[in-house]
Amino acid sequence: MTRIALAFVALMLATPFAHAGLQQAGENDWSIIIHGGAGVIERGDMDAQTEAAYRAALQSALEQGGAMLRDGADGIDVVEALIQAFEDDPMFNAGRGGVFTADGRVEMDASVMIGSTRAAGAVAGVTSVRHPISLARAVMEHSPHVMLAGDGAEGFAAERGLELADQAFFFTERRWQAMESQVQRMGLPVPPRPEGAPDPEPVNEGALDMMEREHRFGTVGVVVRDQSGVTVAGTSTGGTTAKRWGRVGDTPVIGAGTWADERCGLSATGTGEYFIRFNVAASICREAEYRALQTGPEGAAQAAADAMMDTLLADGGDGGIVMLYLGEPVWAMNTPGMYRASWGEGREPYIAIYDDE
Ligand code: ASP
Repeated sequence: MTRIALAFVALMLATPFAHAGLQQAGENDWSIIIHGGAGVIERGDMDAQTEAAYRAALQSALEQGGAMLRDGADGIDVVEALIQAFEDDPMFNAGRGGVFTADGRVEMDASVMIGSTRAAGAVAGVTSVRHPISLARAVMEHSPHVMLAGDGAEGFAAERGLELADQAFFFTERRWQAMESQVQRMGLPVPPRPEGAPDPEPVNEGALDMMEREHRFGTVGVVVRDQSGVTVAGTSTGGTTAKRWGRVGDTPVIGAGTWADERCGLSATGTGEYFIRFNVAASICREAEYRALQTGPEGAAQAAADAMMDTLLADGGDGGIVMLYLGEPVWAMNTPGMYRASWGEGREPYIAIYDDE
């Protein structure tokens, strides 16, 4: 290789996110993509009413996010507002409606990252904070740290005056029963119901069956590019049903479940252990950059995301991602379904559940 070629390669490796030649199209265009978890979500599994409710939740998030971005809101405010709404919605595995650990608690993880500055905040294993995404943002903005966990994170939430909630607030019967059958399969004792939880009630069998099959899924994520061209990504989850020993997944791990840089933002959902090991979120964005350099930006992010999903599947990891690359929405999954939606300046809203939509 000539010296000039070597110098070029060194420059590319040193500054992978600052290539000349790939300019952001439509710098002031806003864009948004969201997910509500991926998994074995197949046609016929859900009754029409449940499917309509998921689509309505995605649509309302799109409308709220689109309106805020059109009005010039900062990306971080949009990500926080939308994820807060998902965290309050018991249909999703984040905040209220989060899955239960084998000990019978809801333990939540969340993270957020701002692409232009690479500022990031994350929390792991919190049990008493109504909106873990807001705590992740507070860590980013008001602490010298990136990730706080457990009791310490909760102490910080109280210091910052964030809204707290007891375990009964997060309780949903269907998540409880899904955990009960999972711990029984694992040969573990069923834990006592949380104090203040409502009396047991029957759950629609079909809904429970689906919850069990997609028990790992339901995490929520939002990626936006605001009118000033800043990409922000956030993710929030209850983790995996019947998790044990303080297990933490990919959601609060920057680079695994959430990533944002100057041109790319990504939120992941799926079996967190694989997403951590393959450093999924940051790797896809980096791979998109290299592919864009070689063949141009068109299709680069999709190819990078598809390749990673294939790699994960080959190793036994399932899930999906949503991302914005240069403001363009991309999704990829290796599961039959992922709740997802996107919209942007000059584009039609898109809302989908199954992989063929
Ligand atoms: N990725 C999350 C975790 O492993 C779960 C999910 O996305 O459903 O904690």
